[in-house]
Amino acid sequence: MDLKNLYREIVNDHNLNPQHKGEMTDPDMELRGVNPSCGDDIFLQLKFDGDKISDAMFKGSGCAISQASVDMMIDNIIGLSKDEALKQSALFHSMINGEVTDEEELEELDEAYYLKDVCHMPARVKCALLGWRTLKEMLG
Ligand code: ZN
Repeated sequence: MDLKNLYREIVNDHNLNPQHKGEMTDPDMELRGVNPSCGDDIFLQLKFDGDKISDAMFKGSGCAISQASVDMMIDNIIGLSKDEALKQSALFHSMINGEVTDEEELEELDEAYYLKDVCHMPARVKCALLGWRTLKEMLG
């Protein structure tokens, strides 16, 4: 399977079968994130165990990329400390902005790495960044 098909497959899978969609009753932090240019609208919730993110969930609606990207992000950040999660958000931003292209450096983004080609789709950049930008606002 080439990278384009793999990208489509992964985005579809996270969009149709999100692992972290829902609502917590007792989050430690929550924040809404909106991307008016596309109509993407998410609500992100985090639960902490000390400094570590022990659980996270989102709800909302929007295009496939916005919803898949936040689901992938949550996959990645559960178990991370605030600083580690912020670092990962910064790395994702750098990838989407086309500033970091080194595969080894991007490895820690795991499946979110497959959103790399969004940097060639200017109209989709804000969609891909929505969850990560919201996370950064919450923790930063
Ligand atoms: Zn969108």
